[in-house]
Amino acid sequence: MPEPPAPPLPLYPELYERILEEGHSVGNHTFNHEHGWKTSCSKYVQSVAETKEFVDSVLFRPPYGKITGSCAQKIRAAGYAIVMWSWLSYDYDPKMTHKQFQKQLRKVRNGDILVFHDNEKTAGRIEQYLAQTVMYLQEKNIKIVPFSRHESTSK
Ligand SMILES: [Zn+2]
Repeated sequence: MPEPPAPPLPLYPELYERILEEGHSVGNHTFNHEHGWKTSCSKYVQSVAETKEFVDSVLFRPPYGKITGSCAQKIRAAGYAIVMWSWLSYDYDPKMTHKQFQKQLRKVRNGDILVFHDNEKTAGRIEQYLAQTVMYLQEKNIKIVPFSRHESTSK
């Protein structure tokens, strides 16, 4: 799945604080958005450690959803819970129509972990996708909850 990198977090400390203040969860996603199958595990673990300086969380999501089994073991041994997703928005696909997004949205089930992207590929569309998603989940009585029970409380 193509997934462009997110902007480096150190550039947006106010946004990071606001995310926490508003009750959302944050997670480590490596520093340079390394592909877990194309990066040495030592470099990958180093990138996670660098990110820890900026992100206070025990949650980790591998970029592209790619990580080797042995590297996943090392990440878990460092205290992280690896969080993947169970529903993909395909929000980065510029060819996706409104109707296709609605069809994808109908596949969401209670307990799913939804993935959206906030980057240049979704600019101009992400707000609409999120608004539609929140409305749909409310209609279906599916609550949106943070991963707060997994988060570090060392703040
Ligand atoms: Zn990513």
